[in-house]
Amino acid sequence: MGGVIQQKAASRRVLIVAVVLAGIVITVGFGLARRVDLVSTDQGEQWLEDEHRYLIAQIDLLEIQWEQALEEAADFELEASKRERGEAAREVLGLRQVSYFGKRGEAHELVEFPLQGPAPLEPSLLSGELVLTNEEVFSSHNPIWIDDAGRPLMYRKADAHGSAVVFILNKKIARGVVLGELKSLMRTVPRVVPAGGLLEFSGDSGKVWLSRGDADCKSRPADETLRHYSRFGEWPIRYWRPRKEVVSYEASVLGGMSLVALLILVGGYWADREQARALKLAAQRVSFVNSVSHEFRTPLTNILLTTELAQEDSREPKAERRLALILDEGRRLSRMVDNVLSYARAERGKLQLGQVREVKLAEFLESCLQQFEILFARKGITCELDVSGDERVEIEVDFLSQIVLNLLSNIEKYAGDGAVAKVEAVAGKTLRITVSDNGVGIPAELKFRIFDAFERGGDSVTSTSSGTGLGLAISRELARSMGGDLQLKNSTNGAVFLLEIPLF
Ligand code: ADP
Repeated sequence: MGGVIQQKAASRRVLIVAVVLAGIVITVGFGLARRVDLVSTDQGEQWLEDEHRYLIAQIDLLEIQWEQALEEAADFELEASKRERGEAAREVLGLRQVSYFGKRGEAHELVEFPLQGPAPLEPSLLSGELVLTNEEVFSSHNPIWIDDAGRPLMYRKADAHGSAVVFILNKKIARGVVLGELKSLMRTVPRVVPAGGLLEFSGDSGKVWLSRGDADCKSRPADETLRHYSRFGEWPIRYWRPRKEVVSYEASVLGGMSLVALLILVGGYWADREQARALKLAAQRVSFVNSVSHEFRTPLTNILLTTELAQEDSREPKAERRLALILDEGRRLSRMVDNVLSYARAERGKLQLGQVREVKLAEFLESCLQQFEILFARKGITCELDVSGDERVEIEVDFLSQIVLNLLSNIEKYAGDGAVAKVEAVAGKTLRITVSDNGVGIPAELKFRIFDAFERGGDSVTSTSSGTGLGLAISRELARSMGGDLQLKNSTNGAVFLLEIPLF
């Protein structure tokens, strides 16, 4: 039922809500404080340096081999007869043009012919726009590379007689040759890359020619890039270290959130304790009122009985009126005592159905109304009774009368002077009793709360009407214990209560 029992549930709810909230705060805290870092698991550089050194060694080797081939070709070309010219040069891959500088008098004779690639270079050597100077061609007998920006890559060798041969290299072809050689050389040795890492060899165009390891690494930039520049271009090695996820939590965020969660828990615990204390106090009060009510009951019943007898004996109208007044007030007190006792019983879970009796419905309701005859008359309240359906009903009469008397008592207290009330009863499979009035009614927002124990309408608390706020709570509890219900119906004019009880 309402009141204390509901408060008990509410009390536990505060603690549960606090615990759930604290849990949410902690969970969110963990989420906010969580940091996932990718930490490299391979710190060793040595093997990578070894790889680089190996690559450099291979490129250097190729370069030396190339140079040797060029020098041999140059020696041959310097010695060669006109007919044999170009024969040795043609054997060396990547050569684009051979230029011969023979000595004839003061001027040098220049013979050029292409080997691979496009037509002879324009402007040609020693022509109007000089590509090579005399100095460069004849300065020394040692073979030299001529490799500067803006000019093609050249290899020159001069002899003791003042002749020289210049090889113009096609860098692209040369690089292609080097690349082919490198690929086959490097592929023969298995590259041992740490698991989860990636090693990549590429040319200066960025095109990868050898790749070993986990290709997924390429979603991030390389951790290491080692470069080697040779005559044939740039040869970078890129390395992605293997990474693993390391989860850490930011202490400040976690600490802050834990503090909030702790505060919520402490607050919840405090509220729970306070409510438990209030509940205990309320229970003590109820127990006290219950004991007092018990003590009231017997003398009150005796007073009411004696007054009724005295009223019957009385021949004096004035005394009769006074006795009627005592009877009304005594009954009011009796209803209050009944409600308190029922409430205390319900709280202890001891609200049990009494004896089911058969009553004539119309007679029963008339006798209820009779108890209010004088009270209603005093306030000018009229009440109509309309009974239909089965004449007799079998019901727990004490419970039913307590409910009906409570509803009628409320009309007397709250409907106001001159109110018009109505009690309509229909008995069939279910007993339906509608108790309505055209008074101030009950605001919609109180529709459900009004049935809570100790709940009194806002105005009625300040008004002079007496009450404990137990009448409706007890009435609904009694109706439910009979398998039925008591509800406040929506109404634009006054209060309308519907009591429904299934009949057997
Ligand atoms: P009490 O009468 O002791 O206050 P009840 O539980 O019987 O307790 O009623 C609760 C509240 O419902 C009352 O305080 C009153 O504000 C309101 N109420 C009950 N019946 C009526 C009615 N017929 N008209 C207007 N208000 C009512």
